[in-house]
Amino acid sequence: MASLFPWHQAAWKSLTALRERMPHAVLLHGPAETGKREFSEAFAKSLLCENPLAGGHACGECVSCGWVAQYSHPDFRRVRPEALEEQVGDESDEEGGEKKTAKTSKTPSKDIKIDQVRGLSDFLNVSTHRQGFRIVLMYPADALNSAAANALLKMLEEPPPSTIFILVTDSLDRLLPTILSRCRKFALPMPAKAEALQWLQQQGVKESDARLAEAGGAPLAAQASAMSEDSDSVSLFINELIRPSSATALKAAEALQKTPVVGLVTVMQRWLYDLFSVKLASETRYYPRYRKELDLLAARIDAAALMKATKSMNERRAIAEHPLSPKLFIEDMLLDYSALFVK
Ligand SMILES: [Zn+2]
Repeated sequence: MASLFPWHQAAWKSLTALRERMPHAVLLHGPAETGKREFSEAFAKSLLCENPLAGGHACGECVSCGWVAQYSHPDFRRVRPEALEEQVGDESDEEGGEKKTAKTSKTPSKDIKIDQVRGLSDFLNVSTHRQGFRIVLMYPADALNSAAANALLKMLEEPPPSTIFILVTDSLDRLLPTILSRCRKFALPMPAKAEALQWLQQQGVKESDARLAEAGGAPLAAQASAMSEDSDSVSLFINELIRPSSATALKAAEALQKTPVVGLVTVMQRWLYDLFSVKLASETRYYPRYRKELDLLAARIDAAALMKATKSMNERRAIAEHPLSPKLFIEDMLLDYSALFVK
């Protein structure tokens, strides 16, 4: 049985205390990569459990818990973008089996589409199988495209009996205000640094301090970076940033063209952020382990140019999900970067 992350204990306690008068729509929100999804799954499981333990945790032994574990609970639906369905591909899909065969070359959608929301109406219109709650878990809720959001809104306006919608998001501001107003908002916190570090160490993550800083304090991102196959590419990229040179940009871009560009843009944005704060405030946020290198680089760069570069990286970010040519995109990014430095 998956246990809660330590930084979620307090939120868990206050949320599960509402069990007897649970709002029909709960919106869990908080920083990315801090385990909100795991929390929401545990919460759904607890609501469905027929003999919850003290503390509101699912028993793991009743019929409902068994069904949840096998992804076959008739009163439980997950709604998430296709792209996420593939990512968690080892789950059998309770939504009807069509997705497995649909694994074509077509890029899976990152949106939650209106058909997915409409597809819920059959589920919501029959009575529940186990006389308990019926749960719709939706993440990330900000992936609802506008048609889907409006379809959901109709459901939230006339909530079916004993049904609880659980929505999860990193960005409240990307949800329709009308949806927000129909949900009971519930904040999940960013863990305190010491708590996150302790957890990372328990997971056997090496250099947890540096990794946590690089992940902006988000422990799951830190863990993922430690485990990721991309960490070689990221070190290669950072090596380019440490030794900016127009001569090596093309070669680096070739080596990195299979790495997700969005990830590299994030590294670049954080690197520029650190350069800036080293220059102005003598501080690092993400890359304390490269402090020496950042100091040397910051001395060679003009603050105004740095600010301009930061701004243009934000613009690049917008197209980084679908660059026409990842290689050109990366090369261009590195060339602009190397041009910032006085030789
Ligand atoms: Zn149970």
